[in-house]
Amino acid sequence: MRHDDETALDQYDMQTLAVRAGIERSAFQEHGEALFLTSSFVFSSAEEAAARFAGTEAGYIYSRVSNPGVTMFEHRLATLEGAERCLATASGMAAILATLMGVLSAGDHLVASRSLFGSTLQLLNNVMTRFGVGVTLVSATDVTAWRTAVQPNTKLFFVESPSNPLTELCDIAALSALARETGACLVVDNSFCTPVLQRPLVLGADIVVHSATKYIDGQGRVLGGAVLGKAKLLDPIHAFLRTAGPTLSPFNAWILLKGLETLSLRMDAHSANALALAQWLESHPAIETVLYPGLASHPQHTLAMQQQRTGGPIVSFVVRGGREAAWRVVNATRLISITANLGDTKSTITHPATTTHGRLSPEQRASAGVEEGLLRVAVGLESVRDLRHDLARGL
Ligand SMILES: *Cc1c(COP(=O)(O)O)cnc(C)c1O
Repeated sequence: MRHDDETALDQYDMQTLAVRAGIERSAFQEHGEALFLTSSFVFSSAEEAAARFAGTEAGYIYSRVSNPGVTMFEHRLATLEGAERCLATASGMAAILATLMGVLSAGDHLVASRSLFGSTLQLLNNVMTRFGVGVTLVSATDVTAWRTAVQPNTKLFFVESPSNPLTELCDIAALSALARETGACLVVDNSFCTPVLQRPLVLGADIVVHSATKYIDGQGRVLGGAVLGKAKLLDPIHAFLRTAGPTLSPFNAWILLKGLETLSLRMDAHSANALALAQWLESHPAIETVLYPGLASHPQHTLAMQQQRTGGPIVSFVVRGGREAAWRVVNATRLISITANLGDTKSTITHPATTTHGRLSPEQRASAGVEEGLLRVAVGLESVRDLRHDLARGL
């Protein structure tokens, strides 16, 4: 199956595309996707070199600009996301930076959800503002607040759904309608769900960004990222990336390309484990509340079931007894890794109030809903029975 055979793509299911889409074989006709560890490419003549540089002839020049393995990853991920085009990046933050630099200019304004990945918040608040971009942060769940925040120079909306660590959902279809009405570009960070569980472009978003470091690799090996959307919209982002240089390395592209082959199997297994763990936690007397979009008790369960295929891989819960009780659970684990990272086959646990959200003032933490008893588990692929035992030890 060739990536440019559009008619062929329609007739296959996602799992088939995850394994087959985007393959470009070299003259050796290798079966597996090859790893192209080369920084540059040679030309057969001065004429060919000139034509490649002029763009009148397709072909590779230099791996900061493009590389066959990177191209394969881009085509396969674009197919899964339902995107016209994908730009691979060195990390998730490189994808977000390139998007902001491509879409925005000094004097523009953006509206973003208050509950975002920490480095994304820093980039908006501490970097973009230095270059004359206005930033307004609002609640992810309140579409009216987004409408109120829009200014005449608002060019971009930025959200993550579900959010971390509270698993709040943003109504992507409603926000994309507002974005269209006001002329803003809606960017969705889809790192937690991946295209297997949620396809924001199909729901009306303009651009999807990924930290491929998380579930797309899914095995804790490499950093990577991606920007996806309509080809035209991505032109200025592409121009920034190839000039500024935060593009994906050929080796990491190869790992991520192979990661996509098992993505849907892994996301289904992560989701099934997360749901089973959430249901068990909900019935446990030491737990005050469980925050998991796949549970009927989640305030946005109905939206979750429309927008996502499952409740996702992340379960948060509040332990009775505040920080002391929460730390007891963390410290009693023998299996689940104590780390703020997520998106791995290995389950991880974190206490947001003293780690990812530790630098906020107590008032900011309270307004963000990060209580002292809150814990977040990114549920891995271990046996759910063993994960229950591991948490039960400290509860
Ligand atoms: C980790 C993460 C990022 C940043 O990705 P890196 O690959 O670490 O640069 C961005 N958004 C979300 C939601 C993340 O979890």
